[in-house]
Amino acid sequence: MERVDVREGRTAPWPAWVPEALVSRVRAEGIDAPWAHQAEAAEHARAGRSVIIATGTASGKSLAYLMPAAAAVEEGGTVLYLAPTKALAADQLRALRELELPGMRAAGYDGDTPFEERAWVRRHADYVLTNPDMLHHAILPQHRAWASMLRRLRYVVVDESHRYRGVFGSHVAALLRRLRRVCARYRSEPVFVLASATIAAPGAVAERLVGLPVREVTADGSPRGGKDFVLWEPPLTEKTRERGAPVRRPATAEAAELLAELAADEVRTLAFVRSRRGAESVALEAGERLAELRPGGPAGEGAGGGRIAAYRAGYLASDRRRLEAELRSGELLGLATTNALELGVDISGLDAVLITGWPGTRASLWQQAGRAGRDGRRALAVFIARDDPLDTYLVHHPDAVFGRPVETTVFDPDNPYVLGPHLCAAAAELPVGEADLELFGPAAPAALAELVERGLLRRRSNGWYWTRRERASDLADLRGSGGTPVQIVEADSGVLLGSVDAAAAHSTVHEGAVYLHQGETYLVRRLDLDDAIALVEPARPPYSTWARGVTRIEVAEPVRECAWGEASLHFGTVRVTDQVVAYQLRDAATGTPVGEEPLDLPPRTLHTRACWWTVAPEQAERLREEGVELPGAAHAAEHASIGLLPLFATCDRWDIGGVSTEAHPDTGRLTVFVYDGQAGGAGFAERGYLRAADWLRATRALIADCECPTGCPSCIQSPKCGNGNEPLDKSGALRLLDTLLAGAPDVTTPEPETAQPAA
Ligand SMILES: [Zn+2]
Ligand SMILES: [Zn+2]
Repeated sequence: MERVDVREGRTAPWPAWVPEALVSRVRAEGIDAPWAHQAEAAEHARAGRSVIIATGTASGKSLAYLMPAAAAVEEGGTVLYLAPTKALAADQLRALRELELPGMRAAGYDGDTPFEERAWVRRHADYVLTNPDMLHHAILPQHRAWASMLRRLRYVVVDESHRYRGVFGSHVAALLRRLRRVCARYRSEPVFVLASATIAAPGAVAERLVGLPVREVTADGSPRGGKDFVLWEPPLTEKTRERGAPVRRPATAEAAELLAELAADEVRTLAFVRSRRGAESVALEAGERLAELRPGGPAGEGAGGGRIAAYRAGYLASDRRRLEAELRSGELLGLATTNALELGVDISGLDAVLITGWPGTRASLWQQAGRAGRDGRRALAVFIARDDPLDTYLVHHPDAVFGRPVETTVFDPDNPYVLGPHLCAAAAELPVGEADLELFGPAAPAALAELVERGLLRRRSNGWYWTRRERASDLADLRGSGGTPVQIVEADSGVLLGSVDAAAAHSTVHEGAVYLHQGETYLVRRLDLDDAIALVEPARPPYSTWARGVTRIEVAEPVRECAWGEASLHFGTVRVTDQVVAYQLRDAATGTPVGEEPLDLPPRTLHTRACWWTVAPEQAERLREEGVELPGAAHAAEHASIGLLPLFATCDRWDIGGVSTEAHPDTGRLTVFVYDGQAGGAGFAERGYLRAADWLRATRALIADCECPTGCPSCIQSPKCGNGNEPLDKSGALRLLDTLLAGAPDVTTPEPETAQPAA
């Protein structure tokens, strides 16, 4: 069970209908009564109203859905629990089994469930924990085998629902509509209970996800008083890399040092680090440093060594309890962790929290910072910026963090590229009739017509049918990797090392690429695109490789536009053609280019959505006269703006791409495009269009604030540039953005109530 921090809310009496067994088990865990927000959400669900509970991490969302779920099971109903990952579902199953509720037959159903166990789950389990992938590939296509469970289905729990964003969110939205349709066939109408981290407009987001009216229940997750919040930018070092750009001290090195120094002063500290390997190295370095700071310090385990630990996902409940206890007692002074800690560990009441790199959203930042603060003592939170435009912007603009509402979740349920395959899967489950069109939304009729034209569906008098031999569910790629992932195989041994997404294969595992896998270096001998295999061999080349590509973008259909004085802003659909044409060899130590090899790879085309802006020819001419190098200025503005879009669209910079050109054939002007990196669009570019004035003003400020002379990774250089970060003109970018923004609306766009207001 998640436990609640007492300062977070009021308690409420147990609703009378909650099974006595659940009440006594929860009391045995030390929780006397539910929190008011838990009880409120539970009452909605009990009354048949779908509900989303959106609160901070440590506020015990699981009890909210467990109350109605346990009551339903006691009455002979069933519950379907969906988690975004297999690991989280397994975690919840473990917690549920520890409760030992009499009569509840809880079971997991995922790719690892043994075949012989599956039949038992289908027939006898009344609380099934699974993930969207299994629902899509295994449960819905075989709904007849699940008839007994589906007929009695009372609740669908959608846990961690804020993780369904971007294209993945669009897939899950379609999947939940398919589930509702299949349930209707068995005459059940389950109530949806969603649990989410704190997000803006949770009710509206939930309604778009499930396609039903959803009540929202929120609890105050804002940070408590008495906290010092420090924004910390690591200093530039003497070292340089690409194009002479100065190198900042790594954020993880700063985190390790701070962790050690705080621990040396007996300040109990938790450090959040983005990657698992990073967390381990921070713990290790901090332990060594602590030993230096306190030689012969506290007895045992080499002074500092044993008093700082790394936390990994997948710990058993008993391990977690031990860690919790050691931190509480002060036996353990420091813990470095990835965000895995968010999953069901009760670690709060610390003195300090270090947040290494932007955790993605303001909501996550507050949750992480909220771990610090005990017994009314003053607490410390430190945000340590990584070498990244977004982090740089935030340390210079605290107003973008403080006093702002948390974000909403962005996805587009009407993405035609997502909807099409789900309509095929739906038709294979049960023929799609006219009456189903409303369920699948306004994009459905056109999508169905196209599927008929492509020969995927057949239209008969009473609806649309799937008549092909293949499994329709194989058409949809839920995790949105855009094609078959390429398997990486060691050529001599045939050992499978891993895989990369189809979209990234051309640039990361092309012939001759240096490929890193768990600290080992390999050289790609051959990339076989037909079989989706890259053959590699161990090697230690004295260089790294960097793919070079050309990207062309064409406007397919402009959807919206507005004038910013002589400049203009647009949103619409585009066709992006990407081709990796060569790779550069760079000295492994200095990063200096030492050679280039051509590649012969086919172009890849992506139909997606983009936001783009232009300046008028006269404006461009004036800039040119002032000596601005326009291609470098536009390119630099593009990179920086991509780095900052995540602040406005809850995406990752790797989810979006960009193209800049001095004269684009479709606009006839200097144009900068920013597009969604997945087919059909993910809603991010649209969000950029809606927040453009704020977003591009922030971009300008970011470039101006970075103290590097001509550009660095903290401002205008991009780690994924297909042009080797060339050309880039930092001061020119400022002049270009000034010109663009001169005609932009002054008023700050308010955070819209919903993610994407209707067009
Ligand atoms: Zn810079
Ligand atoms: Zn670039």
